[in-house]
Amino acid sequence: MTPSHRNERAPKRLVLLGATGSIGKSCARVILDNPGKFSVEAVVGGRDGAALACTALELGAKFAAIADPAGYADLKAGLAGHNVEVASGPEAMEAAARWPADLVVSAIVGAVGLRPTYAAIEEGRAIALANKETLVCAGTAVMRAVARHGAALLPLDSEHNAIFQALGGRDPSEVTCMTVTASGGPFREWSAERIAKCTRAEALAHPKWSMGPKISIDSASLMNKGLELIEAHHLFAIPPEKLAVVVHPQSIVHGLIAFADGSTLAGLANPDMRTAVAHCLAYPDRLPSGVPAPDLIALSKLTFEPVDYDRFPALRIAREALAEGAGAPTALNAANEVAVAAFLDGKITFGQLAEIVARTLDAMRAKGELETPGDVAAALAIHHAARDRAAALLA
Ligand code: NAD
Ligand code: MG
Repeated sequence: MTPSHRNERAPKRLVLLGATGSIGKSCARVILDNPGKFSVEAVVGGRDGAALACTALELGAKFAAIADPAGYADLKAGLAGHNVEVASGPEAMEAAARWPADLVVSAIVGAVGLRPTYAAIEEGRAIALANKETLVCAGTAVMRAVARHGAALLPLDSEHNAIFQALGGRDPSEVTCMTVTASGGPFREWSAERIAKCTRAEALAHPKWSMGPKISIDSASLMNKGLELIEAHHLFAIPPEKLAVVVHPQSIVHGLIAFADGSTLAGLANPDMRTAVAHCLAYPDRLPSGVPAPDLIALSKLTFEPVDYDRFPALRIAREALAEGAGAPTALNAANEVAVAAFLDGKITFGQLAEIVARTLDAMRAKGELETPGDVAAALAIHHAARDRAAALLA
């Protein structure tokens, strides 16, 4: 996992996929706080052309690609008079992903991030991976392609970043237990009945992290932790039975690895994504992130609790999909994307989220539609079939 270095003194050339999002903004802060270290070549956004234009200007990008053609006019207007190439649509996103660069940050939300991330893999790039849905949707095919094309994945998800740093190049097969921590989200102490009927605003109010809406809902249901177990399984080639989750409300310890002799290494950091961003952007060097190291005396108390799978059924369903393997994680992710969007649109209750995911998986299992996807195209076929089934359940 060693990204290529062109020249120690030349700024590192970056492409930011999902530049206008929460992770994209953390990247921008680290980049702007370290002048001369990076050159942002291309930026990609979803729909908001005006916001992407601002980001492109702020970071001095040469190319700005907007996924939704409806955002093109605002993007073009926002960059009028500036020497920035602009384009829209899936081909434009892919062109940005393939743009010559030393590091591609994959921070689009959802499985829609898979194609551009895969394009960067095909170019043999080093990729700072925030977009966990890519590995949940098509982990086996993606990891195979990473090896085939000599690409490298640097985990940007905080738990995986902590584990990656703790591993320090050691063979993950030496690890006897790999633990990701969960803050427990806004509903850690709520009853199942109250959680099922929560409001949109309550579900979005994460106690520790400020993030985009989709991952915020996933963090409230603990589906995020399920997606992260699947992500860890692929990133570190670790079997499901060696993966554990512990609830840790202070979000200071992010990941732990234990060895046969009982030694345990943990990764600690304050809950601010700039730490993991700076680690990935500077790797293998170190740069200031703007985030101080945790002050253990000031914190004084770090606490740990088991997960309550009855109150957080999404995590149980995700663990079952991970153990089942084949097409189950792909379908799990797709159904969850549909359900989360429906919850955010006020079409279903929070309690229905896990139900829709479980019913989608059951229906597809019964029809023999969860076969192992041999490649990305097969994974996307399962993804779309699961989206259709979940949408039909909503109708
Ligand atoms: P966000 O919603 O804040 O931003 C998402 C980005 O993706 C935006 O730039 C948006 O324009 C873009 N986008 C949305 N739909 C798109 C589409 N159809 N095509 C192309 N681009 C599209 O999300 P976020 O919180 O920054 O999360 C991004 C990814 O990083 C997610 O996969 C999330 O799970 C992961 N992640 C986020 C955090 C965090 O702290 N925010 C932490 C760990 C992992
Ligand atoms: Mg995480």
